[in-house]
Amino acid sequence: MTTSLLPADPRPLSGAAIKAAQQVMPGGVSSPVRAYRAVGSEPVFAARGRGAMVVDLDGNEYVDYVASYGPLILGHTPPSVVTAIREAAGQGTSFGMPTTAETTLASMIRDAVESIDLVRFVSSGTEAVMSAVRLARAATGRARILKCVGGYHGHCDSLLVQAGSGVTTLGIPSCPGIPEDVTNNTLLMPYNDLGQARRLFEHHGPQIACLIIEPIAGNMGCIPPSPSYLEGLRSLCDASGTVLIFDEIMSGFRVAYGGAAELYHVQPDLTCLGKVIGGGLPCAAYGGRANLMRQVAPDGPVYQAGTLSGNPLAMAAGIATLEALRDRSGYAHLEQYSASLVNMLQEAAQDAQVPVQLARVGSMICCFFTHQKTPVKDYDEAVHCNTTAYSSFFHGMLDGGVVLPPSQFETWFVSTAHDDSTLEKTRTAAKRAFATVRDT
Ligand code: PMP
Repeated sequence: MTTSLLPADPRPLSGAAIKAAQQVMPGGVSSPVRAYRAVGSEPVFAARGRGAMVVDLDGNEYVDYVASYGPLILGHTPPSVVTAIREAAGQGTSFGMPTTAETTLASMIRDAVESIDLVRFVSSGTEAVMSAVRLARAATGRARILKCVGGYHGHCDSLLVQAGSGVTTLGIPSCPGIPEDVTNNTLLMPYNDLGQARRLFEHHGPQIACLIIEPIAGNMGCIPPSPSYLEGLRSLCDASGTVLIFDEIMSGFRVAYGGAAELYHVQPDLTCLGKVIGGGLPCAAYGGRANLMRQVAPDGPVYQAGTLSGNPLAMAAGIATLEALRDRSGYAHLEQYSASLVNMLQEAAQDAQVPVQLARVGSMICCFFTHQKTPVKDYDEAVHCNTTAYSSFFHGMLDGGVVLPPSQFETWFVSTAHDDSTLEKTRTAAKRAFATVRDT
């Protein structure tokens, strides 16, 4: 009998699955970050999830901080959401006719988000952003748009310029296939730098249709806005007649029931939503004041449509999710767990003498591996973080039964299903993972 000295591969079925997937899909995945290229390994294939835990094809269990990149605020398979989806599916999966579920979810959104009078549902965040920008251009008769370096707003052509998320993870400076004519109208500014924004508005203000921003940057790691940054942007937009668009696809219904706008008391003209409002099903939306939204077809001339928009299953999942959040008690749990998690990680890193910065707004979290003493405030500082250290930490955590986003430039998400036992599991894994980082 021969015995191997190598540790057994804990994920042989995931290894085989990615090889089969690569035969039929680029990178074997439906979205690039899932391929784990930034952490130099093969991806973990999900088999099922329950609460805060996800189980892979090989039967390994992990505490999940990916949470489908944000939608799963109640964790995996919350019974009320699963029941709602089942019941809706039994009535019909899609009609191409209006349903009352759309009115219900739209009303819940309007009640939650102060600046929204009217909502249009779409199927992805990309679509929501693309449509909101079109509306802003139509309403102002202007062509230029302004975004932040490292801000990610989905993969629509005009916004895929110096974008965060997977674009940063894969080191793609600009994306082939997008004509210069399309991006010539996209102006860029560093996040959290009001001085630069002011200068841009001085030169181009009357031509800028919209400023689109993630109020809490969540695609270059997680970076909170500096005090009065968002108010400053609001004033600049007001002074030049520019439409302020908050891309709250990640932060909406996550950092507070009314999103970042509620948290920071700044009201945009248009808001893009996604992730949480679909409860894990494909659903997104854009909305704002009636005078803008009434310009959308069929009330107005700005065309935008979708075969599966307002899909009954997605509406049912969204309604059940918002119903669970509406009394706001879930946010207290998210806050308390997330604060404990961050304190615990800070301590574990300190014990292992690994320099990190823990950034957090509510249940959006990021661990930056950096020597920098001041808080990471923009894309430039985020990309100078130690991605090799993040990668070691990621693998240490995975081996310890905790799955994190496979990139320094993604946000971690806590759900209401995370509890004392997941915190303890995370603590044990983190102690070992930080020691691995120190020793490499
Ligand atoms: N905006 C933000 C802030 C996002 O985080 C994302 C996705 N992570 C998008 C837009 C795009 O959404 P989707 O992937 O649903 O197209």
